[in-house]
Amino acid sequence: MKESYQPDTLCIHAGYHPKSGEPRVLPIVQSTTYCYDSAEEMGRLFNLEDEGYFYSRMANPTVDAVEKKIAALEGGVGCVATSSGMAAIFLSVLNICKAGDHVVSCNAIYGGAFNLFNKTMRDMDIDFTFVPPDVTEEQLEAAMKPNTRAVYCETLTNPSLVVTDIELYAKVAHAHGVPLIVDNTFPTPINCRPFQFGADIVVHSTTKYMDGHAVQVGGAIVDSGKFDWTNGNFPMLTEPDESYHGLVYTKQFGKAAYITKARVHLLRDIGCQSAPENAFLLNLGLETLALRMERHCSNAQKVAEYLEKDSRITWVNYPGLKSSPYYQLAQKYMPHGTCGVISFGVKGGRAAAAKFMESLQLASMVVHVADLRTCVLHPASTTHRQLTDEQLKEAGIGADMIRLSVGIENPKDILADIQQALDKVNA
Ligand SMILES: *Cc1c(COP(=O)(O)O)cnc(C)c1O
Repeated sequence: MKESYQPDTLCIHAGYHPKSGEPRVLPIVQSTTYCYDSAEEMGRLFNLEDEGYFYSRMANPTVDAVEKKIAALEGGVGCVATSSGMAAIFLSVLNICKAGDHVVSCNAIYGGAFNLFNKTMRDMDIDFTFVPPDVTEEQLEAAMKPNTRAVYCETLTNPSLVVTDIELYAKVAHAHGVPLIVDNTFPTPINCRPFQFGADIVVHSTTKYMDGHAVQVGGAIVDSGKFDWTNGNFPMLTEPDESYHGLVYTKQFGKAAYITKARVHLLRDIGCQSAPENAFLLNLGLETLALRMERHCSNAQKVAEYLEKDSRITWVNYPGLKSSPYYQLAQKYMPHGTCGVISFGVKGGRAAAAKFMESLQLASMVVHVADLRTCVLHPASTTHRQLTDEQLKEAGIGADMIRLSVGIENPKDILADIQQALDKVNA
């Protein structure tokens, strides 16, 4: 397997290489455990002296193949697949933070991640300082504390679609001897590879574009292998782990210290691993990821340009539009496209937006995004319906806001659907 293959080739081939007589397609290894001939062999596995499978909470051949594929796509040294994107985010921070530590995070992150940090992990005595997505270097510097152990952001924020200046975040994190953890769910490694811009750890909700068919919930953590964990800030990686007879991760696993610890410590203790069947489904999705992202982006660009010209639309937010304040950053970090999600306002506010959403025929109303089927959500009348217009404004969500996740159907049909729904709003 050549590391130099292009991303679309890696999507199809990375991670699984059958030997003579083995199945051409990645099989589902639906087994919790694995047989060995001697106690000694098994003992070496338990001591982490040999690589191999012994219990599927920590490693499974189907899951392993998908992890290798995602690591290859991001250009990392290793990957751990998890049961959800939320689990990946939690483990990525917990792997290097304990009670008393502090993290600086962008505030415009996925709502679930914000709750995890702001409430659940604060209750575990891990503190967070939140900064706005287009934070200045001075503001970011001011947020860093002596006990800061990580900086966290999203490459392209869900749902506000801010393109983050990853190089700026990485610069400040590295100046303080801590890693930058980036959620790369929306662009996927097809459109952005954060390690090229200084990120150290990447997390994913594979539930979104990577899967793309809305058939499994999953997550992934990828390690660039470039961060120096021996700078004194990360004793959990450089001091003996008593639960493995005094093993020191950085000594035993070198560049893969962080990702190995995430697996053998956190998957062992917390048990939020991917199921083999989900890994199989995710792998099928990954095979067509490059093709799908291209189509999602070209369709979304057409829809965004169409909406921008329509007088019944008050505003359009899509980083592929020249009018977007994030157009330049998108050109730098995601020159081939961003993602398929667009947000926009319908003239007439809450009632008009709800009527528009209900009038769509091709697009389905769901809470999900990044599916190959076009889907739509009007937050003010669904996920955020208990909020007043005033409270919505504070949350950065207009009462008129529609979030459209443009699928890979024929663009003519998507545009015709939008047009007929807009006609109904004004009828
Ligand atoms: C959906 C999402 C998550 C959470 O992932 P789950 O797989 O739903 O747990 C995290 N980050 C981003 C950017 C997301 O869109």
